[in-house]
Amino acid sequence: MNLDVERIRQDFPILKRQVHNHPLVYLDNAATSQKPLAVLNSMNEFYTTINSNIHRGVHYLSDLATESYENARKTTKNFINARSDREIIFTSGTTASINLVAYSFGERYINEDDEIILSVMEHHSNIIPWQLMAERKKAVIRVIPVNDNGELVLEELEKLISKKTKIIAVTHISNTLGTVNPVSEIIKKAHSQGIPVLLDGAQAVQHGTVDVRELDCDFYVFSGHKIYGPTGIGVLYGKEELLSQLPPYQGGGDMIDNVTFAGSTFNVLPFKFEAGTTNFAGAVGMAAALDYFSNTGIDSIVSYENDLLKYVYEKLSRIDGLTLFGKSASRIPVFSFILDHIHPYDTGMVLDKLGIAVRTGTHCNQPLMDRFGLPGTVRASFCFYNTFAEADALIDGIMKVKQMFG
Ligand code: PLP
Repeated sequence: MNLDVERIRQDFPILKRQVHNHPLVYLDNAATSQKPLAVLNSMNEFYTTINSNIHRGVHYLSDLATESYENARKTTKNFINARSDREIIFTSGTTASINLVAYSFGERYINEDDEIILSVMEHHSNIIPWQLMAERKKAVIRVIPVNDNGELVLEELEKLISKKTKIIAVTHISNTLGTVNPVSEIIKKAHSQGIPVLLDGAQAVQHGTVDVRELDCDFYVFSGHKIYGPTGIGVLYGKEELLSQLPPYQGGGDMIDNVTFAGSTFNVLPFKFEAGTTNFAGAVGMAAALDYFSNTGIDSIVSYENDLLKYVYEKLSRIDGLTLFGKSASRIPVFSFILDHIHPYDTGMVLDKLGIAVRTGTHCNQPLMDRFGLPGTVRASFCFYNTFAEADALIDGIMKVKQMFG
């Protein structure tokens, strides 16, 4: 089924606005995506008719709020095809989810000289939590390299895996290069040695179907705000048998069973990892976003984004003096590029004056920038509400930048 993009755009009020007297061309979707009315309305309705703290009260509204929150968990479970609600932990986002795993998994399983494998293309969120844990435990981080096309060098992974490897944590899709990593292959290799795998899905859930059972990953993490949902809410999926072995990450209300000064016991999954008042309204909004995304048709979204990808890739490739990073055949429409002799920041500033929102800088990927010897790039990230006309606006904008600085 073809996507009716013009109709879809009506669902996103912000896309109608002007920026610097130009129609907004929003190409910063990898940083955060815009929100459809379905999400805005669901949160508005929650706050105007149901709002009350969850899991605590005996009163009517508290029951309704708890039901909405737990329904959001079911929606999330079904969205990624987890086995059980107990495998879905609500967090504040991808970063919080990785910190949780790095801390709790580290406490339980990582000792001196043990090794953790990451990759060069990881977002800082999938580096720093592991570094903090490795420092604490005197463990060692090993890194999968990236080739010139912006793909992981899997032959090197074979060499990195050893008896000391305790976990592999890699991104499903690169936020800078757009590369879709061969995660099934990585998981198979890891599991053949009994090593669990965490996938950072921050850039993946909004660009296709994610089935955690089919992938057989041990942990999968993502953020609501990148999949058309609100900020401050995200997900940690973990296999129940693994999560149940991990100690709590943060302490507080709701995550406990019995508290005494002599010692306390902890709640069952998933609550053991949800200390304090969670972002329950955010969970409701994120569930509305997941429903909206599914109802729009994930196959149609993927097919449309692929057409956009080919169109933009082809046009960018033809621009003289433009170098594109990330040339994998397996990719999403996220484009990182530089223009000869023009600083990415200058490119971004001129595009902004034309109403075109792109991101410039290192995109929280400093080791990847170092790999390519770059101070930063311009990144244009598309999604299913972007049009071919907007792609043309980007190309025209780049030509203007070249003229101005040429
Ligand atoms: N991982 C990847 C691949 C990302 O692109 C991002 C955000 O850009 C993150 C992690 C961090 O996500 P958040 O800031 O929502 O926690």
